[in-house]
Amino acid sequence: MYDPKAEYKWNDYWREHKLFAFKKDDESRPLFVIDTPPPFTTGDLHIGQVYWIMYVDSIARYKRMKGFNVLYPQGWDTQGFPTEVQVEKKYGRDMSREEFYKRCAEHATANIAVMRGLMLTVGASFDESLEYVTMSEQYRRKVQLSVLEMYDKGMVYRAEHPVEWCPHCGSSISREEAEEKEVQTQLNYVSFKLKDSAGALEIATTRPELLHACVAVAVNPSDERYKALIGKKIEVPIFGSEVKIIADDSVEKEFGTGAEMVCTFGDKQDISLYYKHGLKLINSITEDGRLRNAGKYDGLALKEARKAVLERLKEEGLLNKQEHITHTVKVHDRCGTPSEFISAMQWFMKTKEHADRIKEQARQMAWIPEHAAQRLYDWSNFIEWDWNISRHRVFGTPIPFWYCKGCGAIVAPERSALPVNPALTKSPVSSCPKCGSTKIEGETDTLDTWVDSSITPMVIAGWPDDQKLFRRAFPNSMRIQGTDIIRTWAFYTTYRTWALTGNKPFETIIAHGMILAPDGREMHKSWGNGLSPMELVEKYSIDSMRLWVALSGSPGKDKPFSIEDVEHAKAFLVKLHNSALFVKNAIADEKLPAEEPHKSFNVFDLWIMNRLNQVTKEATDSYDRLDLYGAMNAVTNFYWHEFCDYYLEDVKHRVYAKDGEGSKRAALFTLMHVLQTSLRLLAPVIPHAAEEVNSLFSQESIFLSKFPKYAEKAAPADYIINGLIFKSAIVEMDYEEAGAFANTIVGNVRKAKASHKIALNKPITLININVPDAYYNTVLSVLKDIREICKAGDVKVERSKDYSVSIQI
Ligand SMILES: [Zn+2]
Ligand SMILES: [Zn+2]
Repeated sequence: MYDPKAEYKWNDYWREHKLFAFKKDDESRPLFVIDTPPPFTTGDLHIGQVYWIMYVDSIARYKRMKGFNVLYPQGWDTQGFPTEVQVEKKYGRDMSREEFYKRCAEHATANIAVMRGLMLTVGASFDESLEYVTMSEQYRRKVQLSVLEMYDKGMVYRAEHPVEWCPHCGSSISREEAEEKEVQTQLNYVSFKLKDSAGALEIATTRPELLHACVAVAVNPSDERYKALIGKKIEVPIFGSEVKIIADDSVEKEFGTGAEMVCTFGDKQDISLYYKHGLKLINSITEDGRLRNAGKYDGLALKEARKAVLERLKEEGLLNKQEHITHTVKVHDRCGTPSEFISAMQWFMKTKEHADRIKEQARQMAWIPEHAAQRLYDWSNFIEWDWNISRHRVFGTPIPFWYCKGCGAIVAPERSALPVNPALTKSPVSSCPKCGSTKIEGETDTLDTWVDSSITPMVIAGWPDDQKLFRRAFPNSMRIQGTDIIRTWAFYTTYRTWALTGNKPFETIIAHGMILAPDGREMHKSWGNGLSPMELVEKYSIDSMRLWVALSGSPGKDKPFSIEDVEHAKAFLVKLHNSALFVKNAIADEKLPAEEPHKSFNVFDLWIMNRLNQVTKEATDSYDRLDLYGAMNAVTNFYWHEFCDYYLEDVKHRVYAKDGEGSKRAALFTLMHVLQTSLRLLAPVIPHAAEEVNSLFSQESIFLSKFPKYAEKAAPADYIINGLIFKSAIVEMDYEEAGAFANTIVGNVRKAKASHKIALNKPITLININVPDAYYNTVLSVLKDIREICKAGDVKVERSKDYSVSIQI
């Protein structure tokens, strides 16, 4: 019986023998370079991560067996929100910046150790000596250098700009950190007095607390109700300021009264109107979510401010009505707080003007599945602003600049000084080179973590220090990543590597979907439908999970997890192990012939070896397309349903024959050849099981052997062993067809025995076979074998129009 516990020892064996080390100085073999996601250091692996780890490891193992020098490192994305949130939960925030940083680093280091262990447990064969950690001094130096190089090219700038902001976390957040949420709120109808004529205009707003930042009232130019008012002046209630009525197509006539106030900034539309119409800027909210520039309302939190402003409007008789509505707001995905737009000095990378170049680079990569690229194109087509790369955090790579408080000039460090922390160290110059001011501030913000992770393909290829390796290893051969981070990780990586090298980051990118819960929904702790991948590994074995990964179909799809599929995978491993034990017992003390025993092969031998050649070809083609499903579907079906279900039964009588004549030795040779070849076809995906079975026959790791060869068949009656073609004249037809036909007869006799309710191994008197002309000679050539396989006293064959089989007990 296959013992899953035996799997673990092979992980240790491979590591002890350093079987998977990258040999940097070996230039004789082609390189295969793999960029994998550096996970956030959460301290655990979720099932989606275990999926890609198993997937990419199988590819790495295949490529090694094909003779590639595989560069396969694993890195860790340590910095940013997730770590800070966890550390804050554990220790609070009542400590110095340095102390908090130290705690975050310790937390990340401890989690890396756990997660690395889990990855190695599931068989990941990355080279540990190539590991990178984004918080390390070495990695930070590279990140800062990459930012500096882009600054030199004019692609990094500092500017005041509205940014999406979380008032709770006190930091800007990126577009993808903002989630949509439906909330109940009130739509307030407020009267604005017209300035140069009598009367008022009624506007509707969900954000009355931003009244003080109202810089215009907007209507749709085609709205007949308001046409005459466009360009007129109007007074903002309570605050008394004068603003213009402007016209813009983006105003929805049907929403509220069709007239809306424009504040800096209530929402995204406000920002676009602000830019489009050149409106005034009133900074309305502080970084911690309180009113500013609001006179006596200054300092009020947003909720209190809303109450106070509405009360005052009521008192003045300007609040005409209130309506309950449901609408969508953006909330910060980490804390659930509604995000705001505030205007602040931020650092940016120029993405907007380079969108077309990014798409052009993406088009030069092969995408698996092909349609995944569309997500990147769609995202690129709707870039509204440049990439805001500053974060108001502690645990992050410092933005490597100082700036002049007088004129805003930027001071960059010397490259040789990197990594720098401008929050702690003095500017390299004592006065501003532009205006002479001595007020030079070090930037205290840190970089968005995507800035760290968007240079991974360059870093793993040796950039910037090992140019010799870099020329060989960049672009990388492949990356695997989730479809959910195409618009971030894939997008930013493509942009940054193009900006820094002028090149695409990879030849191929595999975008995998999500593993859903068995009920077809996303896995959620609160829904109780989550699955622990390590518990599954424990229960079903590592390789059952790995085979499930391969057989679960194309990687691009979201797929519900299915226990039945894992059980099926496990059943295959049991079958593999049991059939190998049969072969081992069959061989026992027999000496296998040193050469192929050509003269003694029968139709069944040549059939299974030809099928093996065909399956080797299918598997190779699939592996080369990085398609594990195609490879494993072909090999497991062949092994289970042709080799085990038929061939093992077909040869038992020869294996158990007392004398070691040619027929027996040919059978043993064939058994051994098919088993060993199949093991090597399977080894990349089920390395532990393959190694365990291989150890029954050999002292040497299966990963030191080459991936099997195959040959294209020249003529139907050729047969192929180990990629070599031989001529044979046992039958004149294709061996795949001849063997399949012979097995059909065997199968029909089995069925007939079953319908007579006699055991399969019980002797019968006679088998009658009627067979069409085309198969007559083939059947003649296997008569003796069929008699033995089916334990029949005699077999009679007659030519006939139709095929049929009957037996006599
Ligand atoms: Zn937040
Ligand atoms: Zn200056």
